[in-house]
Amino acid sequence: MTQKFDAIIIGAGVSGLYALQQLHELGLSAHVFEAGTGVGGTWYWNRYPGARFDSESYSYQYSFSKELLDEWDWSEHFAGQPEIERYLNRVADKFDLRRDIEFNARVRSVKYDKDEELWEVQTENGKSARAQFVLAATGLLSAHQFPDYPGVESFEGQSLHTARWPKEAIDFRGKRVGMIGSGPTAVQILQTIAPEVGHLKLFQRTANWCTPLRNGDLDEATQLKFKQSAPEIFATCKRTFGGFIHDMDPRSGFDVSKEERWAKYQELYEQGGFALWLGNFYDLFSSRELAEEVSEFLAEKIRERVKDPIKAEKLIPKNHPFGTKRPPGEKDYYEAFNRDNVDVVDLRATPITAITPTGIQTEGPEDHDLDIIIYATGFHSLTGELLRIDIQGEDGLSLQEKWSDGPKTNLGIQFSGFPNFFAIMGPHNPATFCNITRCVENNVEWVIGCIRYMRENGYKTIETTVEAEESWTEQCYESVKGTLLDEMQDSWFFGNNNPENVRGRFLMYAGGVPKYREIFADVVAKGYEGFELR
Ligand code: NAP
Repeated sequence: MTQKFDAIIIGAGVSGLYALQQLHELGLSAHVFEAGTGVGGTWYWNRYPGARFDSESYSYQYSFSKELLDEWDWSEHFAGQPEIERYLNRVADKFDLRRDIEFNARVRSVKYDKDEELWEVQTENGKSARAQFVLAATGLLSAHQFPDYPGVESFEGQSLHTARWPKEAIDFRGKRVGMIGSGPTAVQILQTIAPEVGHLKLFQRTANWCTPLRNGDLDEATQLKFKQSAPEIFATCKRTFGGFIHDMDPRSGFDVSKEERWAKYQELYEQGGFALWLGNFYDLFSSRELAEEVSEFLAEKIRERVKDPIKAEKLIPKNHPFGTKRPPGEKDYYEAFNRDNVDVVDLRATPITAITPTGIQTEGPEDHDLDIIIYATGFHSLTGELLRIDIQGEDGLSLQEKWSDGPKTNLGIQFSGFPNFFAIMGPHNPATFCNITRCVENNVEWVIGCIRYMRENGYKTIETTVEAEESWTEQCYESVKGTLLDEMQDSWFFGNNNPENVRGRFLMYAGGVPKYREIFADVVAKGYEGFELR
């Protein structure tokens, strides 16, 4: 018999776990379907060597439980994947969440029964359940993707995607490894395995502006300091554009002399983390001149650090200024290219033509025979994980049809025609620029507040109006205009890294987290304006 719950959550990652804890607090029955065999979501799947936070551990962790904050010790400023996975398991145990999570249960379809006003969720392994509410906690970077080169399946060595990394350790010693992709994931992995591999070739289409992470161990005194100042840390994160501890300088870069600007870049570069990106002059995101100057500052650093000038030039981005992509945090990424066993292949000069049984073929004269190919080729971002599920709303309307001209949402949370369906980290919210847990808590609390309001006031369904959805979608497009991001149509911020997407539809809200929180609060204050409660 199909079981019935108040709510079904899809995914047991950072947002799914918190949503479940909050539903428990509300006294609702809930069931989680999770594709993996453990909790953690992103931090379960992306277990490649070197995977770690790019937000400071103490600013990324959940803020909702003082007890949890007091008892958990982070060993590093930017913790690594194994520790993060342990933390999320601890959360699942401490709040007794596991009893409601069904593992090995990838959701295949989510369909609305209009007569019953219930959602029916079915998994690929034949399980099903029904619920009044569905909370899609499917993440924004979950649907991993391979490049569409001919022959991907033909490679006779080992193929690995970073987002499906095996639990068993990979022995890279003496192996010829090729890695496709040079985003934040590739940077973390390359600097970690470089000393170990026989030979490593990075197949790079677009170089990235990487900034030093400056990670380090956390001693007891520092941990204590962070525990005591947790309220201030989270208050800062509430105030800042991306929910990080770094805040933009309210001055324009051009309010000060070039020497002062340069000194500031150096100070931020020393500070590490996202300091150079999110602690810079506020007009970094709108002034091409300023962004190009910071790029020049970083190009100098790359030339200083990479000894071979030809390699250095390949690693300096030429098609976008600093700040227009989320910068990878690195440790000794650039120094890795000073090793004899690490090379970079510039795919703009010699594009890949095929994956062959023995390696990677490019337009260049060289053979690239390999034992292992690592695909660090990213995700069908923001919409992919939702579109891979057969989601059908009222009257059989499918999400694929509804979003055939790009996603339409109200606040990134709801879609018209899909009553009582909430996306926690879907398109059109500021989460992509965000210190994720800060945005997760914000979004989950809004959804839970909404469900509580419905219960208290006798409403059975909530659904965004078409007008509010059109208006929010337009506000998302507007939010990027006048910024340098608008010129980055090739990035996954616009979904243009996936051929299934409609080109040129900005997939996020670029107005910042504080503004988004204000809008959220305003909607609630006006009795869920833009939503129809029935
Ligand atoms: P990504 O930023 O989308 O990078 C994918 C890489 O693969 C790019 O270099 C891309 O090149 C390349 N690529 C894709 N298709 C290709 C093809 N057909 N041929 C050659 N190259 C191809 O993905 P990611 O590195 O996994 O990072 C995604 C996001 O995850 C990041 O922006 C970050 O927000 C997050 N992340 C966070 C952390 C952390 O918190 N610690 C760590 C890793 C990732 P092009 O640029 O030319 O398209």
